[in-house]
Amino acid sequence: MATNLVPQVMNALEATNFYFKRAVKLLGLDSKVERSLLIPFREIKVECTIPKDDGTLASYIGFRVQHDNSRGQMKGGIRYHPEVELNEVNALAQLMTWKSAVANIPYGGAKGGIGCNPRDLSPTELERLTRVFTQKIHDVIGPHLDIPAPDMGTNAQTMAWILDEYSKFHGYTPAVVTGKPVDLGGSLGREAATGRGVLYATEALLKDHNLSIRGQTFVVQGFGNVGSWASKLIHEKGGKIKAVSDVTGAIKNNSGIDITALNEHVRMTGGVKGFEGANPLDAAALLAEDCDVLIPAALGGVINGETAKDVSAKFIVEAANHPTDPVADEILAKRGVIILPDIYANCGGVTVSYFEWVQNIQGFPWEEEKVNTNLKKYMEKAYLSIKSTCQTHNCSHRMGAFSLGVGRVAKATLLRGWEA
Ligand code: GLU
Repeated sequence: MATNLVPQVMNALEATNFYFKRAVKLLGLDSKVERSLLIPFREIKVECTIPKDDGTLASYIGFRVQHDNSRGQMKGGIRYHPEVELNEVNALAQLMTWKSAVANIPYGGAKGGIGCNPRDLSPTELERLTRVFTQKIHDVIGPHLDIPAPDMGTNAQTMAWILDEYSKFHGYTPAVVTGKPVDLGGSLGREAATGRGVLYATEALLKDHNLSIRGQTFVVQGFGNVGSWASKLIHEKGGKIKAVSDVTGAIKNNSGIDITALNEHVRMTGGVKGFEGANPLDAAALLAEDCDVLIPAALGGVINGETAKDVSAKFIVEAANHPTDPVADEILAKRGVIILPDIYANCGGVTVSYFEWVQNIQGFPWEEEKVNTNLKKYMEKAYLSIKSTCQTHNCSHRMGAFSLGVGRVAKATLLRGWEA
């Protein structure tokens, strides 16, 4: 496709719709199915007012977008971030639908969030905000309806508060959320799952090119839950992590960063900045660092028309959601850069969320080894399914993954049918 056919500036929802519509074309779906899959099942916007610790009132806007439930209950994280707004939550909810289908777990897609900066709120304020938000949405979530999980700015503690608040209305229900503390029915291995899934996805991709993690160089943008776990596991497998960044700055060491020591530094100081085992690097230059595999693991839209031309990696593994916009996708494809798209590369989180839910429903917890072995199986199987879809449609991994996901959801929608 010629570059001039790709609109140069797209927001997250326009970009997601762009890939969806391409997949619809590749699959030859009819316009009734297209429309039904594109429009979200339900969009919720709620006002959440809480007393701050100093006694003043503060108001925040919360969202939950439930995109599709053809293949099962809706599923997706809740994000606390200043940039949370309805359009992006919609895009992320849609991505969850295709992601669950690519992973082949029996879920639809949803996403939620609150427009706030969690770093500016005390633990008690965060708890109040989470409880108020849960009060506003408790009647439209549930273990067989829509199951939240952590995302950017939220964690296992946030899920524990949602669980508790939901249980006041509906009785004790651990399966209403995943990614909760292990002491409340959370799954062993869930905390590391997205990063571990990134490792397994990268291994599958490299194996396909007769390569392995050992011997490759990596650059990781973002050192939160996903980036730090992916780095740790890749480092343990002999991969050389040359550079990483987070909100505090970027660092580089051409001989490879000692991730165990870096994790300790982050635990002590709150960020990668100032780590003695590496040199400071201009954060804006990180994406252009010479490496074999680039792993964006932070915000969306970072690889765009501006930054894509400087990317020198051979492979990009999208640990973040929608880190690459369609303009960049096109530029990189022309240069032969191979991209593992978000809806596959980061599906390890929701896959282990599914295992957590299964354990809750059965009331029978799994050993961590069982969680990790099953995650590996799901990741390898999804890789092969994407590859064969790419062969069928002669397309990129991104369009292979979108076609696989959209195709599975369309099939379920058609099988269930509409009112006669
Ligand atoms: N927030 C994660 C994601 O974007 C996990 C979602 C879940 O486990 O439901 O995939």
